[in-house]
Amino acid sequence: MIEMVHVSKAYDVSPQALFDITLKVEKGKFVYLTGPSGAGKTTLLKLLYAAERPTAGEIRVTGFDVVRLKPREIPYLRRRLGVVFQGAKLLSRRTAFENVAFALEVLGAKRREVLKKTTQALHLVGLERKAQCFPSQLSAGEQQRVAIARAIVNDPLLLLADEPTGNIDPGSAEEIVKLFNEINFRGTTVVLATHNDGLPLMLPKERIVLERGRMVESSLPMPSAGD
Ligand code: ADP
Repeated sequence: MIEMVHVSKAYDVSPQALFDITLKVEKGKFVYLTGPSGAGKTTLLKLLYAAERPTAGEIRVTGFDVVRLKPREIPYLRRRLGVVFQGAKLLSRRTAFENVAFALEVLGAKRREVLKKTTQALHLVGLERKAQCFPSQLSAGEQQRVAIARAIVNDPLLLLADEPTGNIDPGSAEEIVKLFNEINFRGTTVVLATHNDGLPLMLPKERIVLERGRMVESSLPMPSAGD
């Protein structure tokens, strides 16, 4: 699902963000990417969805050679991914339903399919009764659940989440983590970045720890030579 081999990333203006990261995440895993603020978690996720390019190394995600992807090919990679950020980043003038449906409409899905999949996704996150609410009428936790519905409505192979519980109270955060567990249970590979070690680890999870751009701990099997 994910392979990084000797990946490094340096931005122009700051100290190097990632040093020589090698890891492999198999299909169906749930991986926590942890480490203090500034450790490189966001950068690592950005490399996976091709929002940044590595300075060195090889990256494969859902079968794509991300490093060699041409800009016009990036949407094909993104269609296989769902991404959730710290803030829900919803469109404020659209309802919860419309925010989720939009993710399918831009892919040219037919109306019936949009209706069916959007309803299913909102059901999964427990918000079908608030489908017609605008973001301002929803709590931060509910807004984040809409963002999760939007990320999974297209049945992604891989769900990437960057501090998804960062803006919400502990009770809602626990609900969100349960939701990620459920999504993972249904077969989607999940990588969740958080600086918060206190997040409830409800199922046995894989864990990668970054510190100042280096991988200092990992429970994942190392890729073998020739992989
Ligand atoms: P984390 O998500 O663990 O907080 P980041 O990946 O955001 O860490 O940041 C890692 C390092 O890269 C930090 O030193 C940060 O200042 C730097 N960095 C992140 N994004 C940029 C950017 N767009 N331009 C320059 N430096 C950046």
